[in-house]
Amino acid sequence: MPLSEELRDLYQQVILDHSRNPRNHGEIPPPCLHAHGDNPSCGDEIDVWLRLSDDGQNIDDLKFTGQGCAISQASASMMTQKIKGKSKTQAAAMREDFRRVVMGDGAPADEDALGELILLEGVQKFPQRVKCAMLAWRAVEQALDSAKA
Ligand code: ZN
Repeated sequence: MPLSEELRDLYQQVILDHSRNPRNHGEIPPPCLHAHGDNPSCGDEIDVWLRLSDDGQNIDDLKFTGQGCAISQASASMMTQKIKGKSKTQAAAMREDFRRVVMGDGAPADEDALGELILLEGVQKFPQRVKCAMLAWRAVEQALDSAKA
């Protein structure tokens, strides 16, 4: 099988697996940070719940619920796996790297840290899909911003 076909197969397997069996799915009871994000052009909705460490610097727990297309749900599932347990600074760096990948906006600073998320780079050809892929990440950013207020 040519490499491009192999990659497409892998992409489909990973997206389907995460959208059918989302990781870190559910809600965190309060007190926690929460944000809701929606993407009306596709009909995707994501709610994220975060619990920070006592010093407010680390994302100790992170869960999501949502509905919508496979890309939005798979991106949310993979995101929770990557940034749960990380510091807010690391999570922000990963979000910026992921944004670059899905928008085709330069090389990520730390490609290895993104892992399977790199497979979503194909969405850069479809501007509507970029919103699907970024939805959960924007919701986390929003939830973190609500803590500063
Ligand atoms: Zn979508």
